[in-house]
Amino acid sequence: MMTRIKDLGWELFHIFFRHFNFPCKLGLINVGTPGENSPVFLSGNYTLTVQRVLRKLRGIDCYLLVANSRGSNVWCAAGMNEFSEYDVIDAINVANLGNLVKHRRIIAPVYSAPGVDISAVKRETGFNIKWGPTHLDDLPRFIAAGFKRTNDMFQVKFGLQDRLEQAVSTAWCYTMTIALIGLVWPIFFFTVSGLIFFVYLFGFTLYPLFPEERHWRRTLTITALLTTAMALWALWSGWATADFLLWEGVLVAVCLLMAMDCCGSTPLHKSTIKHWLLNGDYNSHFSPVIDPSLCINCVQCILVCPCDVFAARRDAENTVVVVKPDRCEECLACFKQCPTDAIFNRSGEVKGDVKSIPNLEVLAARDWSHLKSEDRWIGAATGLRGGLPIVLEGRTTNAPTVPPRRAASESAATSLIEIGQ
Ligand code: SF4
Ligand code: SF4
Repeated sequence: MMTRIKDLGWELFHIFFRHFNFPCKLGLINVGTPGENSPVFLSGNYTLTVQRVLRKLRGIDCYLLVANSRGSNVWCAAGMNEFSEYDVIDAINVANLGNLVKHRRIIAPVYSAPGVDISAVKRETGFNIKWGPTHLDDLPRFIAAGFKRTNDMFQVKFGLQDRLEQAVSTAWCYTMTIALIGLVWPIFFFTVSGLIFFVYLFGFTLYPLFPEERHWRRTLTITALLTTAMALWALWSGWATADFLLWEGVLVAVCLLMAMDCCGSTPLHKSTIKHWLLNGDYNSHFSPVIDPSLCINCVQCILVCPCDVFAARRDAENTVVVVKPDRCEECLACFKQCPTDAIFNRSGEVKGDVKSIPNLEVLAARDWSHLKSEDRWIGAATGLRGGLPIVLEGRTTNAPTVPPRRAASESAATSLIEIGQ
């Protein structure tokens, strides 16, 4: 009992402080009694992630290779150039992995793709990086399926637990930011803090129920609902006009703060506050388009994209094309992994917070005017073959056969894909 309470306290502490770095020990962890044929999994050295991965691996004899992500989660660290191929190569060499296992395969979180150049890892160590499921919760199913990803393991997810953790950790950050106010006006501080927690929990818990953020629709809906509820409460409780105006103002400010946060604090969107203010949506700047003359059909872009942006042509051209550019969330994993720089950028600009690609600005600003005809693939009908999204020739319609967020119920039997080919 005491252990469970201690574990819960530990978990809650790390959830509240999720925006802070908590490094754990680097190196190789033996899970169970691994041998020379046991699988090797990769993680960054963010304490909360490592503990959660270990929990998912319970009962399996394997190795967990903990490489240096500077105590941060791999997605943030990979984007910020704090978790790169050099960290993975170092971890492999320091652990002497080449002598411990006979095979040459490491299963890596796909969220590390924006930072880890898998061709460099292969070149320097001989180890192949294979991409695991996008979501950690799918790891046991991935292992049970013979280390293969089913289609529903490709897509980014933002489930209730993730949303609650995001709400609590972000609200806690803002509460700490205004903590000094509590020394002077404690009641005001505690009320504002409560309001921040309430708005974030409300917004993130009901996230899928609100309309998509187009022309501020989501923000306006949440703000209208909460301000109306507060007005009714104020009427019923007989608030003074000054109090009413003050707290309605604070409430609107917190709603706007949360909306601005959503430009980059969810795994679903990445935009800029400027773009959001001007357009009222969270669309990313980056908009990929592939040069078929450079594409070698390695399908890495499909394997690392968490947003279903790409599909393969299985005709005489045999290349990959962009079918849903407006779903891109600018993780730049495709840009990082493309071995031939075949991916251009329609918009010519990027948000600029991904630091792991040294010549990013130059690559993203390349002239793509010779690729305008590639726009014909946008909205093309796609189907699944061998686990990959494939363009269905002759069915170029704006109503793709693959639904926008591929349902988890899609047949796993027909959709297994060997990861990281
Ligand atoms: S990663 Fe590059 S080369 Fe490989 S399929 Fe995608 S666009 Fe083509
Ligand atoms: S298309 Fe967008 S979301 Fe997909 S991998 Fe590339 S940058 Fe990331």
